[in-house]
Amino acid sequence: MGKLGQLRQSTMMIYILILILRMKTRQVSKKKKKKRHRIPTNDELLYDPEKDNRDQAWVDARRRGYHGFGIQRPRQQQQPVPNSDAVLNCPACMTTLCLDCQRHESYKTQYRAMFVMNCSVNKEEVLRYKTPENRKKKRGHKKMRSNHEDAAEQAETDVEEIYHPVMCTECSTEVAVYDKDEVFHFFNVLASHS
Ligand SMILES: [Zn+2]
Repeated sequence: MGKLGQLRQSTMMIYILILILRMKTRQVSKKKKKKRHRIPTNDELLYDPEKDNRDQAWVDARRRGYHGFGIQRPRQQQQPVPNSDAVLNCPACMTTLCLDCQRHESYKTQYRAMFVMNCSVNKEEVLRYKTPENRKKKRGHKKMRSNHEDAAEQAETDVEEIYHPVMCTECSTEVAVYDKDEVFHFFNVLASHS
Protein backbone atom coordinates (compact mmCIF):
# COMPACT_ATOMS: atom_id res chain seq x y z
CA MET A 1 0.00 0.00 0.00
CA GLY A 2 1.50 3.35 -1.02
CA LYS A 3 1.28 6.58 0.87
CA LEU A 4 -1.69 7.62 -1.15
CA GLY A 5 -3.50 4.43 -0.29
CA GLN A 6 -2.81 4.89 3.45
CA LEU A 7 -4.05 8.45 3.32
CA ARG A 8 -7.19 7.35 1.53
CA GLN A 9 -7.82 4.66 4.15
CA SER A 10 -7.39 6.97 7.10
CA THR A 11 -9.62 9.56 5.45
CA MET A 12 -12.24 6.87 5.05
CA MET A 13 -11.88 5.92 8.74
CA ILE A 14 -12.32 9.53 9.82
CA TYR A 15 -15.30 9.87 7.55
CA ILE A 16 -16.93 6.75 9.01
CA LEU A 17 -16.22 7.98 12.56
CA ILE A 18 -17.87 11.28 11.76
CA LEU A 19 -20.88 9.44 10.35
CA ILE A 20 -21.21 7.29 13.49
CA LEU A 21 -20.92 10.34 15.75
CA ARG A 22 -23.50 12.20 13.75
CA MET A 23 -25.94 9.32 13.97
CA LYS A 24 -25.44 9.09 17.73
CA THR A 25 -26.00 12.79 18.34
CA ARG A 26 -29.06 12.70 16.16
CA GLN A 27 -30.52 9.87 18.23
CA VAL A 28 -29.81 11.66 21.47
CA SER A 29 -31.36 14.89 20.29
CA LYS A 30 -34.39 12.99 19.05
CA LYS A 31 -34.88 11.42 22.47
CA LYS A 32 -34.52 14.78 24.16
CA LYS A 33 -36.91 16.38 21.77
CA LYS A 34 -39.48 13.67 22.29
CA LYS A 35 -39.38 14.07 26.03
CA ARG A 36 -39.58 17.80 25.98
CA HIS A 37 -42.43 18.15 23.53
CA ARG A 38 -44.62 15.22 24.36
CA ILE A 39 -48.12 16.53 25.07
CA PRO A 40 -49.71 14.90 28.13
CA THR A 41 -52.94 13.12 27.38
CA ASN A 42 -56.16 14.18 29.06
CA ASP A 43 -56.26 10.92 30.96
CA GLU A 44 -52.87 11.68 32.47
CA LEU A 45 -54.02 15.11 33.43
CA LEU A 46 -57.27 13.72 34.89
CA TYR A 47 -58.86 16.75 33.41
CA ASP A 48 -60.84 17.45 30.29
CA PRO A 49 -59.98 20.88 28.92
CA GLU A 50 -62.90 20.62 26.49
CA LYS A 51 -65.35 20.09 29.33
CA ASP A 52 -65.40 23.70 30.51
CA ASN A 53 -66.29 24.88 27.05
CA ARG A 54 -69.02 22.30 26.70
CA ASP A 55 -70.49 23.16 30.11
CA GLN A 56 -70.54 26.82 29.21
CA ALA A 57 -72.32 26.05 25.94
CA TRP A 58 -74.91 24.05 27.84
CA VAL A 59 -75.49 26.86 30.34
CA ASP A 60 -75.76 29.38 27.52
CA ALA A 61 -78.31 27.24 25.72
CA ARG A 62 -80.38 26.93 28.90
CA ARG A 63 -80.25 30.64 29.55
CA ARG A 64 -81.19 31.39 26.00
CA GLY A 65 -84.12 29.05 26.39
CA TYR A 66 -85.45 30.48 29.63
CA HIS A 67 -84.47 34.11 29.50
CA GLY A 68 -84.03 34.04 25.79
CA PHE A 69 -85.52 37.37 25.02
CA GLY A 70 -82.60 39.55 26.06
CA ILE A 71 -79.78 37.20 25.17
CA GLN A 72 -81.13 36.19 21.82
CA ARG A 73 -81.38 39.72 20.53
CA PRO A 74 -78.02 39.86 18.74
CA ARG A 75 -78.82 36.62 16.93
CA GLN A 76 -82.16 37.88 15.78
CA GLN A 77 -80.48 40.08 13.24
CA GLN A 78 -79.12 37.09 11.33
CA GLN A 79 -82.09 34.83 11.81
CA PRO A 80 -85.34 36.72 12.38
CA VAL A 81 -87.36 35.40 15.31
CA PRO A 82 -90.73 36.96 16.11
CA ASN A 83 -90.40 39.42 18.97
CA SER A 84 -92.22 38.92 22.21
CA ASP A 85 -95.53 40.71 22.36
CA ALA A 86 -95.12 41.67 26.01
CA VAL A 87 -93.46 41.04 29.35
CA LEU A 88 -95.93 39.30 31.65
CA ASN A 89 -96.08 39.94 35.38
CA CYS A 90 -98.13 38.47 38.18
CA PRO A 91 -101.12 40.80 38.77
CA ALA A 92 -100.87 40.34 42.54
CA CYS A 93 -97.15 40.53 43.35
CA MET A 94 -95.69 41.84 40.07
CA THR A 95 -93.19 38.98 39.78
CA THR A 96 -92.05 38.53 36.19
CA LEU A 97 -93.56 35.39 34.73
CA CYS A 98 -92.61 35.48 31.09
CA LEU A 99 -90.39 37.43 28.74
CA ASP A 100 -91.21 35.75 25.48
CA CYS A 101 -94.88 35.35 24.66
CA GLN A 102 -97.39 35.63 21.86
CA ARG A 103 -100.65 37.50 22.21
CA HIS A 104 -103.85 35.65 21.45
CA GLU A 105 -105.28 36.71 18.09
CA SER A 106 -108.81 37.36 19.33
CA TYR A 107 -108.58 37.39 23.15
CA LYS A 108 -106.24 40.31 23.62
CA THR A 109 -105.67 39.70 27.32
CA GLN A 110 -104.42 36.18 26.71
CA TYR A 111 -100.86 35.22 25.95
CA ARG A 112 -99.22 32.00 24.84
CA ALA A 113 -95.67 31.05 25.87
CA MET A 114 -93.24 28.14 25.94
CA PHE A 115 -90.64 29.51 28.35
CA VAL A 116 -91.74 30.96 31.63
CA MET A 117 -90.30 31.75 35.04
CA ASN A 118 -91.64 31.82 38.59
CA CYS A 119 -94.53 29.59 37.50
CA SER A 120 -95.55 26.27 38.98
CA VAL A 121 -97.79 23.83 37.16
CA ASN A 122 -100.26 21.98 39.34
CA LYS A 123 -100.45 18.60 37.62
CA GLU A 124 -102.70 17.18 40.32
CA GLU A 125 -105.54 19.36 39.15
CA VAL A 126 -107.08 18.90 35.69
CA LEU A 127 -109.14 21.45 33.83
CA ARG A 128 -111.20 20.44 30.81
CA TYR A 129 -112.15 22.70 27.97
CA LYS A 130 -113.83 21.95 24.67
CA THR A 131 -111.89 23.00 21.62
CA PRO A 132 -113.96 25.03 19.19
CA GLU A 133 -110.82 25.93 17.22
CA ASN A 134 -110.21 22.37 16.07
CA ARG A 135 -113.77 22.05 14.84
CA LYS A 136 -113.48 25.27 12.88
CA LYS A 137 -110.37 24.01 11.12
CA LYS A 138 -111.96 20.77 10.02
CA ARG A 139 -115.18 22.40 8.87
CA GLY A 140 -113.46 23.43 5.65
CA HIS A 141 -113.53 19.86 4.34
CA LYS A 142 -117.17 19.33 5.20
CA LYS A 143 -118.54 19.58 1.68
CA MET A 144 -116.36 16.74 0.46
CA ARG A 145 -117.71 14.26 2.97
CA SER A 146 -120.89 12.35 3.54
CA ASN A 147 -123.21 13.09 6.47
CA HIS A 148 -122.17 9.90 8.17
CA GLU A 149 -118.50 10.86 8.17
CA ASP A 150 -119.44 14.28 9.43
CA ALA A 151 -121.17 12.86 12.47
CA ALA A 152 -118.14 10.76 13.29
CA GLU A 153 -115.90 13.76 12.96
CA GLN A 154 -118.14 15.82 15.19
CA ALA A 155 -117.77 13.27 17.98
CA GLU A 156 -114.02 13.24 17.50
CA THR A 157 -113.56 17.01 17.76
CA ASP A 158 -115.80 17.21 20.80
CA VAL A 159 -113.02 15.56 22.78
CA GLU A 160 -112.03 17.84 25.61
CA GLU A 161 -108.60 19.36 25.87
CA ILE A 162 -106.91 18.85 29.21
CA TYR A 163 -105.13 21.68 30.99
CA HIS A 164 -103.38 22.12 34.32
CA PRO A 165 -103.62 25.30 36.38
CA VAL A 166 -100.45 27.39 36.69
CA MET A 167 -99.67 29.52 39.73
CA CYS A 168 -97.23 32.30 40.49
CA THR A 169 -94.57 30.73 42.74
CA GLU A 170 -94.36 33.89 44.85
CA CYS A 171 -98.00 34.37 45.81
CA SER A 172 -99.87 31.34 44.38
CA THR A 173 -102.19 33.46 42.25
CA GLU A 174 -103.54 31.47 39.32
CA VAL A 175 -102.12 33.11 36.24
CA ALA A 176 -102.25 30.58 33.41
CA VAL A 177 -103.11 27.09 32.24
CA TYR A 178 -100.69 24.53 30.84
CA ASP A 179 -101.67 22.25 27.96
CA LYS A 180 -100.54 18.81 26.79
CA ASP A 181 -98.22 20.39 24.22
CA GLU A 182 -96.28 22.09 27.06
CA VAL A 183 -97.61 25.52 26.14
CA PHE A 184 -98.59 28.04 28.82
CA HIS A 185 -101.74 30.09 28.23
CA PHE A 186 -101.67 33.18 30.42
CA PHE A 187 -105.02 34.79 31.13
CA ASN A 188 -104.50 36.55 34.46
CA VAL A 189 -101.43 38.73 34.05
CA LEU A 190 -100.23 42.29 33.85
CA ALA A 191 -98.66 42.78 30.48
CA SER A 192 -96.21 45.51 29.66
CA HIS A 193 -95.75 46.09 25.99
CA SER A 194 -92.45 47.17 24.58
ZN1 LIG B 1 -97.55 36.53 42.28
